[in-house]
Amino acid sequence: MKSAEAGATAADPPAEPCGAHRVDGTPCPRPPAPGKRRCRRHGGAPGVGAPRGSQNALKHGLYTRDALAERKLLSDFIRGCLRTLREIEGR
Ligand SMILES: [Zn+2]
Repeated sequence: MKSAEAGATAADPPAEPCGAHRVDGTPCPRPPAPGKRRCRRHGGAPGVGAPRGSQNALKHGLYTRDALAERKLLSDFIRGCLRTLREIEGR
């Protein structure tokens, strides 16, 4: 499965630079590999990393994509409620 690149296409806007810590301590300025967060040299090469949805390293699921999304949804809702309350109270 070498040609099957997960996710992004060439049409995606350029993301932030790779940012991996280089030997000299500076962040890597290279663009990330397509569909990845790191450049090819720093772990973005095709075939590197666990496949999407792998359960091999799952222990409690606290940081799974779904759990993080659910907490963010709740957090955004609470933030919205607090904003509304502040508007009502005029503060
Ligand atoms: Zn890099």
